[in-house]
Amino acid sequence: MGTREMKTILPGATLGVMGGGQLGRMFVHAAQQMGYFTAVLDPDPTSPAGRVSHHHLQTGYEDPQGLAELARLSAAITTEFENVPAQALRQLAALKPVAPGADAVAIAQDRAQEKAHFTRCGVPVAPNAVIETPGQLAAVTNDLLPGILKTARLGYDGKGQVRVTTKAELAAAWDGLKRVSCVLEKMLPLVAEVSVIVARGADGTMVNFPVQRNLHRAGILAVTEVHEGNIEPALARQAVSATKSIAEGLGYVGVLCVEFFVLADGSLVVNEMAPRPHNSGHYSIDACDQSQFDLQVRTLAGLPLTQPRLHSPSIMLNLLGDLWGQHGESPAWDRVLALPGAHLHLYGKHEAKPGRKMGHLTLTGPSVAEVRQTALAAAALLG
Ligand code: ADP
Ligand code: MG
Repeated sequence: MGTREMKTILPGATLGVMGGGQLGRMFVHAAQQMGYFTAVLDPDPTSPAGRVSHHHLQTGYEDPQGLAELARLSAAITTEFENVPAQALRQLAALKPVAPGADAVAIAQDRAQEKAHFTRCGVPVAPNAVIETPGQLAAVTNDLLPGILKTARLGYDGKGQVRVTTKAELAAAWDGLKRVSCVLEKMLPLVAEVSVIVARGADGTMVNFPVQRNLHRAGILAVTEVHEGNIEPALARQAVSATKSIAEGLGYVGVLCVEFFVLADGSLVVNEMAPRPHNSGHYSIDACDQSQFDLQVRTLAGLPLTQPRLHSPSIMLNLLGDLWGQHGESPAWDRVLALPGAHLHLYGKHEAKPGRKMGHLTLTGPSVAEVRQTALAAAALLG
């Protein structure tokens, strides 16, 4: 992927990013803070990252001219969304260093390939079956039920998933998903969900953030808690070491997030990975000495990586469009910001829709108890 020969790119150069969502926006903020110029490719003229970047190329992700222009402007290019066409990354990689590489992104884009990679790395996955043909559907055994049928590609925030309890429901669900490639996963008794973010440089240096404990509502991340004791230390060590093997196995360069399930029997099962910074790592902007976006800049620019340090317990609350009024009235930010240690991040999206990620609020403070208290107060104010 050309990253091995990656030279150090010093501030003053331009860093490019495929995709203009909130992750791209926070990457752009981190890059600009360090004195880089930025170029974003996203067709949407109002995209959150496009609005704050020095350059904004408003073309499709596969537009040859747009890609050529991004490569011309940028010293190196990264991606902020998972479903960027791997082919577009390959095209860019022929011209400039690209991290993460197209091959790693292609594996992360496909649940079946992703699971095969986890298994190769010796990390246990949920019992599952790939369903691509009627024969594979018929062959499903009852021990995978009740289960969740997930499209192999393009799912996010619980989209493209159907819960099924019988084989008849499974068949109907696959029809409903237009018989695209799917993975059926056994429904597991989760006691917790955690994620780990690592950053790996082209020279193989790897650093990690502490384990994040995540709460999802309706398939969407709602709350992330990071502090000493948010999870049993042995489990935390296991999750970090599994994430490192997964990154190592991909020869990964960049920021990688791996999501895990903790089961009732205390075991750890890997769920999925994201080849980019992750919603569960947003707390790192305010609660760590380096954020996941700072490390994305460093890995892309070939700068040294040092282990990030959590300097405050933190709780992050996702701010979904549901919090806005029917006519777009925004929540009472002035009251929320009266809470100590409240850090408000809004992504500049022009329209609030239910389920849309509009921003996040990170609470930091001197102790876990105090942060919990302000998080509860914030949640109450937000309704
Ligand atoms: P997405 O790509 O939409 O994030 P995930 O596979 O992470 O999809 O699923 C979203 C959420 O659904 C998970 O965070 C978890 O809460 C729940 N979930 C997914 N798979 C399982 C499973 N096998 N057993 C129990 N809950 C699951
Ligand atoms: Mg997920």
